Amino acid sequence: MQKRSQDALSGQVALVTGGARGIGAAIGLALAEAGATVYAADLLPCDEVVSRIVEAGGSAQGLALDVTDRPACAAAVEGIVAAQGRLDILVCNAGICPPGAVAGDWGQWDRVIDVNVNGTQNCIAAAWDHMVSRRYGRIVLVSSMAYYQGGVIVGTEYSASKGAVAAMTRHIARNGGQHGILCNAVAPGVIATEMTASFSKPDLAAIPVRRIGTAEDVAGPVRFLCGPDSSYMTGTILNVTGGIVLAA
Ligand code: NDP
Repeated sequence: MQKRSQDALSGQVALVTGGARGIGAAIGLALAEAGATVYAADLLPCDEVVSRIVEAGGSAQGLALDVTDRPACAAAVEGIVAAQGRLDILVCNAGICPPGAVAGDWGQWDRVIDVNVNGTQNCIAAAWDHMVSRRYGRIVLVSSMAYYQGGVIVGTEYSASKGAVAAMTRHIARNGGQHGILCNAVAPGVIATEMTASFSKPDLAAIPVRRIGTAEDVAGPVRFLCGPDSSYMTGTILNVTGGIVLAA
């Protein structure tokens, strides 16, 4: 019988982008609960999530990082590896979702693609050689249900960016498996965070479980995708939508 404990990630080191608040903060807490040392990286200070993890007996540090800054992403990973000797888990969660239109503002198109797509790739590229050399890595990307059903409040660029993230998940999975690197994604539905606070409330009748999701609802599946129970899964995109996909 294989051991499956609460300390499934004990001794492992994780980098979570967009880790200061919302879904990223919940992911950091969930990974730390499972024993990982968590680096929460964000434009915003990560002091609050780091304090919560440390007060709960876990290990965490905050990193100031703009994921669109390619050299900074490389330096962040180098710094973690220099300090810890390893980076086991990368969760590319940082993202933006401004309200948009089908044919909206080109500046916004570029910005959303830069953060959501380029920012994701900047972090993967930064971690790749290290994970290949250790023959171990768990990469989890954060897509969105917008990748398969579009959206009405968000702009085309957001759906396009999350479609790209879904495609990247499968591409990295195909190329990473032989190196011991697994890559999966979550595709959340409507989750109550600051990102969605100003959006009009969804019709709960369209959500089979009849409630909006919480950041913790997403963090649990991400922790699963980082841990030993998903060791034969790669290229999977888990819908975390309360069943919206079934009602679409
Ligand atoms: P939040 O806006 O609450 O948190 C996102 C965090 O990412 C913020 O702290 C933000 O900082 C940070 N961030 C933004 N740009 C960068 C950057 N360039 N570099 C580093 N950090 C950055 O969003 P959520 O927690 O709701 O979303 C997290 C992820 O989940 C995103 O990828 C989002 O697209 C995805 N998602 C969310 C859904 C939802 O309903 N909430 C649904 C589906 C997917 P700052 O505030 O300074 O920009």
